[in-house]
Amino acid sequence: MNEHDSERIAGLLTAEGYVPTEEAAEAEVVVLNTCAIRENADNRLYGQLGHLRPLKMANPRMRIVVAGCLAQKDRGLIQRRAPWVDVVVGTHALPSLLELIRRAEAEGPQMDVREYTEVFPSALPAVRGDRHRAWVSVSVGCDNRCSFCIVPLVRGPQRSRPLGEVLAEVQGLAASGVVEVTLLGQNVNTYGRDLTVPGSGSRSRFAELLRAVDGVERLRRIRFTSPHPHDFTPDVIDAIAACERVCEHIHFPLQSGSDRILRAMRRSYRSERYLSWVRRIRDSIPGIAFSTDIIVGFPGETEEDFRGTLRVVEEARFDSAYTFQYSPRPGTAAASFDDQVPKEVVQERFDRLVALQESISLERNRACEGRIVEVLVEGTGRKGGVQGRTRTNKVVHFEGDAAPGQFLDVAIERAHPHHLSGHPVPTAERDGLALAAAE
Ligand code: SF4
Repeated sequence: MNEHDSERIAGLLTAEGYVPTEEAAEAEVVVLNTCAIRENADNRLYGQLGHLRPLKMANPRMRIVVAGCLAQKDRGLIQRRAPWVDVVVGTHALPSLLELIRRAEAEGPQMDVREYTEVFPSALPAVRGDRHRAWVSVSVGCDNRCSFCIVPLVRGPQRSRPLGEVLAEVQGLAASGVVEVTLLGQNVNTYGRDLTVPGSGSRSRFAELLRAVDGVERLRRIRFTSPHPHDFTPDVIDAIAACERVCEHIHFPLQSGSDRILRAMRRSYRSERYLSWVRRIRDSIPGIAFSTDIIVGFPGETEEDFRGTLRVVEEARFDSAYTFQYSPRPGTAAASFDDQVPKEVVQERFDRLVALQESISLERNRACEGRIVEVLVEGTGRKGGVQGRTRTNKVVHFEGDAAPGQFLDVAIERAHPHHLSGHPVPTAERDGLALAAAE
């Protein structure tokens, strides 16, 4: 969501005539877009602001803007701790960014941390790092209150974007050469709960949205993030199965495999329910890949609770997992829980979880060896070759020449825990393989 906001900030400034510079010392405007979900976000913010202070003293035309979640959460504190900050702009106030910068020039420091989104950031101009892939926000905010999460505090309650608006943005993106969109919401499954369809009493639903976006010509891939396991519904499975452009990948946050800890986290599903969704989705959508988020060492987590997480991981067989060591976020309910788990215990459990998940990821990736997969080229990989991604969201590395945005068929030679490697082949080979498989 923050990356999506950064694209809009760059879009607003570019539309106003600003151009990017590599040299902070020369900048007329410096924007720090903060994310309060990250650990130590405030230390890093004030560290950066400390570096900028002498630059601003040498260049009085410089305007320093702090945007994002931390701006929304810390509000006036930021300008009290760093009085050289010109503008504090919260998560709901991005459309006012240029006006705030202008007012700061004329009147001095400004702050807008309003509580309600009137204009979706997606409706603002964007400068995208990638011309072929785009984020599209379908809702902002969240109505849940997970005890570890800062999002409801900094993004407010859920507000969905009308289906027609989302569709119009996706159509515009596809017409301009974007081939993959990721529909973005804190909890996409409750998309539309706060909207009624004009002229009827019914609500828009996420499944309908998927089907509508699937009809956009020239688009090749649709992804979405994230569905909440509690709100998952069978019609979404049917829509994923039926929609050709919707990719065979679901990011399905588990957080913990212990029901006791899930309760303390205020996650309103239980491990067996979670696993039954995984089974049901796998049965309905062959070849679907799962990724997840898991927090280790949530306050009060015992060895038995942690083993519950290992059990669910063993059974769910995720293709990949984002694993986190719990650390309190100020302002969340769990930050005040007094049974915090000692750091060394968290580290030891974390290492066991990572080792287990890596072995499962490798096993899942090995199933791709010898197969030919469609890859969307993203650019140059870390080791200099080409990097792309399968429909199942697996990173693929290969040697050769290929431009970002190009689709290639790649024969997978080798699996690794975090990526696949192979070589490109003519499309006919894939078709031949599919024919042979059908026979
Ligand atoms: S559902 Fe996600 S965004 Fe909402 S409170 Fe829970 S973790 Fe945070």
